[in-house]
Amino acid sequence: MKNRVGAGMRIGARMIAVGLMLAAMAADVWAASDVRSVRLWRAPDNTRLVFDLSGPVQHSVFTLTAPDRIVIDISGAKLVTPLDKLALSNTPITAVRSAQRTPEDLRVVIDLSSQVTPKSFTLAPNQQYGNRLVVDLFDQASDAAPSLPSTTTASAPPVPVTPTQAPPKLAPVPGGKRDIVIAIDAGHGGEDPGALGPTKGQVEKNVTLSIAKELQRQVNAQKGFRAELVRTGDYFIPLRKRTEIARKKGADLFVSIHADAAPRAAAFGASVYALSDRGATSETARWLADAENQSDLIGGAGNVSLEDKDRMLAGVLLDLSMTASLSSSLNVGQKVLGQMGQVTPLHKRRVEQAGFMVLKSPDIPSILVETGFISNPSEARKLHSAAHQQSLSRSIVTGVKQFFEQNPPPGTYIAWLRDNGKIAQGPREHVVASGESLALIAQRYQVGLATLRTANSLKSDVIKVGQTLHIPATSLAAQP
Ligand SMILES: [Zn+2]
Repeated sequence: MKNRVGAGMRIGARMIAVGLMLAAMAADVWAASDVRSVRLWRAPDNTRLVFDLSGPVQHSVFTLTAPDRIVIDISGAKLVTPLDKLALSNTPITAVRSAQRTPEDLRVVIDLSSQVTPKSFTLAPNQQYGNRLVVDLFDQASDAAPSLPSTTTASAPPVPVTPTQAPPKLAPVPGGKRDIVIAIDAGHGGEDPGALGPTKGQVEKNVTLSIAKELQRQVNAQKGFRAELVRTGDYFIPLRKRTEIARKKGADLFVSIHADAAPRAAAFGASVYALSDRGATSETARWLADAENQSDLIGGAGNVSLEDKDRMLAGVLLDLSMTASLSSSLNVGQKVLGQMGQVTPLHKRRVEQAGFMVLKSPDIPSILVETGFISNPSEARKLHSAAHQQSLSRSIVTGVKQFFEQNPPPGTYIAWLRDNGKIAQGPREHVVASGESLALIAQRYQVGLATLRTANSLKSDVIKVGQTLHIPATSLAAQP
């Protein structure tokens, strides 16, 4: 008997404990999060809906057909914002409706004019935003849509590992005359505004897009060149996706345009950055790289992952091709910087190096152009003027053109011009990247080691990273 009573008491105590736990869980559920606002961004191949929340939620997304709809069930949430203010033009969305199924179960129904592939994930708060639920609706004609089941739940984004794609490097056609392709990347976009200027309405993402469009117009006006915009409107693109887009467009050069804030409001001037795998060359470079790389945390790069079993091999291959393109990046960067220095003050006279994620494209020379600091009131004003945007673009184009006239990719119109003696063959320059030897550089430009030594008055073969070498014209190139 005694034992039984004891057992009964223990069970009773356990039941009370369970009861308390249930009460605690119920309290959690009752403290529903508010959906404070809903934002919508249209990209060329998808529509992104962002639900701004006051706290974490659980959710599920599913598709219905005839008529096409997407249903988003958000448990532990109530809607405190209207849904009829969303700009739905140019999207496959015809209407967004909601129903509060219980005080803490919200259902949002999206009516569609065509089928889409949904992908959803939640984002934890960061410096800029609170909890968010992101629903990306990929257009079905698009090849960018990830092959995911149409229903996803839980808070972690499913992570499709995008295999590193071989670049669509076209084999150079002998005597071919293709255009040299410049990928122009307007920094930030969508829910990632970038840096903010001192005056209301001065937002980096808008300045970068205006400059990118002007730059595109000017590049396209040059025979033998074609510009492709990585971002064409106000939407977010994860950093690695940006280089992926450039690669798909067959870019010979990647130029990322920014106008960031500096740690000191008084700081001013333009700078050009190339990638560094080691340390950043200056404190500003480090600071900016950190700020830029935050972009994916702000915008939610749900599909970026390097946790790939071929990572080691990829790393080795990356290092190999990176050295070649880094040297080109430094070279083109120096030319662009030199030209920009004629139209705007420079922050630093040399190309700086830092670990910018957006520059990590192993096979495409890449530079990041800081057109100025939007945090500086007078520079922010200039950056917004059409005249200044034009002259900045003109200087960038001149630098880029200089570089490609000296180093035209085989099979391009510019290479054809050079090979036919139609470009004044000025002296070429090479900026030494880490890991390069004089012999390697001589081999790359097909000049003799001794010729290279003489042209640069070198007493030994010791060269320094960042050093500019003059490359004498080869006899082959000099022939008409
Ligand atoms: Zn930026």
